[in-house]
Amino acid sequence: MKEEIQTKRERSLEDDNQSFFWIKTEGQEKLATENLVPGNQVYKEKLIIKRGIEYRLWDPFRSKLAASIMNGLDYFPFENKSQILYLGASTGTTVSHISDIVGSNGIVFAVEHASRVARDFLDRVATYRKNIIPILQDARKPKEYFSVFGKVDVMYVDIAQPDQTQIAIDNCEMFLKKRGYFFLVIKTRSIDVTKDPKRIVEEEIEKLKPRFDILQTINLHPYDKDHAMVISKFKN
Ligand code: SAM
Repeated sequence: MKEEIQTKRERSLEDDNQSFFWIKTEGQEKLATENLVPGNQVYKEKLIIKRGIEYRLWDPFRSKLAASIMNGLDYFPFENKSQILYLGASTGTTVSHISDIVGSNGIVFAVEHASRVARDFLDRVATYRKNIIPILQDARKPKEYFSVFGKVDVMYVDIAQPDQTQIAIDNCEMFLKKRGYFFLVIKTRSIDVTKDPKRIVEEEIEKLKPRFDILQTINLHPYDKDHAMVISKFKN
């Protein structure tokens, strides 16, 4: 099968951005990251070798960050050497692609409180990727993350809790750099099933405004129903 690789240059993504790639496979351009651990799969994603480099296809139906890229994300601060604090690691699908992107000189601090998924995350992802520091803690208690050192460039929050915006703000206050980026996944149904999803997103954005400059809001349909990604920048 013929496969081609391109780095996509579009919208306001920097011209030299090589954080993720578009690989032409089976007649379609698909999103991918360069595999930090060649030969290692995380969620049965397809591995493709091109010019001696192995790439992992990045499924937008499985990762809301990939869905955001598909739906026109304008800001991509995940770069080689970046430090990220990720709340709601789950089994590590998205964390693994961020780990590919930040590379061996970057760090992903990955917080997950549910012991069953955390065990899967450790066995299948964190064990193989030395740039991931797993933190088995409740995101409501950021003071108990003893392994986070310094401040991070990007905070990514996907914990699907009704009070997640406040939890996220508390974490940003402790760990996000001045003018750092904040990616918040809003699952409208986990906040209030009876309200109009659009209104819920607006209400959550209002809570952010005192501390963050809102940059972009992305509806993740059709990859994820009832989800939005809000990208903002910490004011100080
Ligand atoms: N971000 C993941 C991905 O893209 O692969 C999916 C995250 S899933 C929607 C939400 C996760 O947040 C679950 O694994 C859940 O256990 C975790 N979570 C929920 N509340 C949490 C809390 N208070 N502290 C830490 N993790 C939490």
